Amino acid sequence: MPTGESRHEQARPVEAEMSNLDEKIRVCKLCRLHEGRTHAVPGSGRIKGLEIMFVGEGPGRSEDMQGEPFVGAGGKLLDSLLEQAGLNRSEVYITNIVKCRPPDNRKPLDDEIETCTSAYLEDQIRLLRPKIICTLGATALEYFTGEKSMGAAHGKLVRRKDGKVIFPTYHPAAVFRNQSLKAVLGEDIKKIPSMLKEIKKEQASRQADLTQFLSS
Ligand code: URA
Repeated sequence: MPTGESRHEQARPVEAEMSNLDEKIRVCKLCRLHEGRTHAVPGSGRIKGLEIMFVGEGPGRSEDMQGEPFVGAGGKLLDSLLEQAGLNRSEVYITNIVKCRPPDNRKPLDDEIETCTSAYLEDQIRLLRPKIICTLGATALEYFTGEKSMGAAHGKLVRRKDGKVIFPTYHPAAVFRNQSLKAVLGEDIKKIPSMLKEIKKEQASRQADLTQFLSS
């Protein structure tokens, strides 16, 4: 047995793993986006016992200045729609596909998405194990589902073969371009608590079946 490592060593608590990952994100230079950033934006919210994760596209100007996700106008709208759904920012986790602001808020490029998600977002999901991932906007929709049409995809659960459960909806910023989307986004977000209840019921029933099978 190598010295300093025991077979009985405890896994590090998820909070410690997440703050380690946050620190790596803050100093990351894996892609060109680090060149223009003020602050990288790892994500924020509940860690232990997390159930709902929101994933946007990438930090905007306010987020880049503050190092926090969704703190600009889109974030204020998201907060109010969460509240209408009986949810609070402190009980969900909010992050983005890329963690550094793209220049002039352009869409992140494919290689930036590939680099950032494989280095960070996938690890965040592995550590937090959200029961539902709500994607905000086209970039996150396409990353998680391969789908490009938000009109067809929003508001419907996608159950991936790897166990991830995806709930796509519009990006809050889309509401500033088309006010009629505010009600659509609000209605989608309102569906989350009942869908979560359903997912938890299914998981409990699968667990009960497994327990019964193992004890028979
Ligand atoms: N838009 C995003 O996609 N993410 C943020 O954090 C802010 C604006």
